[in-house]
Amino acid sequence: MIIPKSHPRYKSLKTRELIANGVKSGIASVHGLIAHGRGEAFDYFLGEKTNESAKKSIEAAAALLLSAKRPVISVNGSAAALVPKELAELSRLLSAPLEINIFHSSKKREIKIKSHLEKYGAKNVLLPDKNHKIKFLESNRKYVNPEGIFKSDVVFVPLEDGDRAEALIKNGKKVITIDLNPLSRTSQKSTITIVDNITRAMPLLATQIRKFKKLKLTEKQLEAIFRNHDNKKELKSSVELMKKL
Ligand code: ATP
Repeated sequence: MIIPKSHPRYKSLKTRELIANGVKSGIASVHGLIAHGRGEAFDYFLGEKTNESAKKSIEAAAALLLSAKRPVISVNGSAAALVPKELAELSRLLSAPLEINIFHSSKKREIKIKSHLEKYGAKNVLLPDKNHKIKFLESNRKYVNPEGIFKSDVVFVPLEDGDRAEALIKNGKKVITIDLNPLSRTSQKSTITIVDNITRAMPLLATQIRKFKKLKLTEKQLEAIFRNHDNKKELKSSVELMKKL
């Protein structure tokens, strides 16, 4: 489908097309379409732009990722369909692996997602391993890679579901998410929640990481930035912003 650039909802329609194509090519799950629709609704209430609170969360997330000993980027089908290039770039900037983790178990789909990310420049993509799992999670998503999430201290999990975010926290990990719904269990449970569209937040996160790297901030300075972040307060201010519209 050709979407004219002059269309007032051009960006939103292009993003919708990315997820729809992801389903067609077998990267994203059909259930991802429903989650995407929910995201679009929340984005409307946010005025479809990155708000001040999200900018603060992006700063804190960049600091936490840079100070992590073993950061890992967890990728599901929807994230891979929407921002493959940006995920590959984040992996490169942090020297962190990307690890595929999907709800609807399928080796074929995991391999498809891996190839898709590699097509966009990813060099280090891990798959879950049935011999390693995290605790407090029943679904297929408990399986992790021994060199990735299993050993990680900080996990970046955009577009996550609440059960897994909570389980990762209970396993002693710090969790950073991107979620347009400030009320979701994922948003509420995560260490840092970026309430923004993944398509807008990912490039901003990469820019922030580059800035901090250039400034050569010390461990202590980075820690001070993310320790100052009040996730509950930022979630509240996103809810307030939605109420104002
Ligand atoms: P939870 O289990 O955390 O309460 P949920 O059941 O809504 O939430 P999912 O359907 O797994 O969880 O999650 C999808 C989440 O991703 C939703 O909160 C949705 O608002 C959000 N979302 C969808 N599309 C985007 C997007 N493009 N950018 C950021 N967030 C998005």
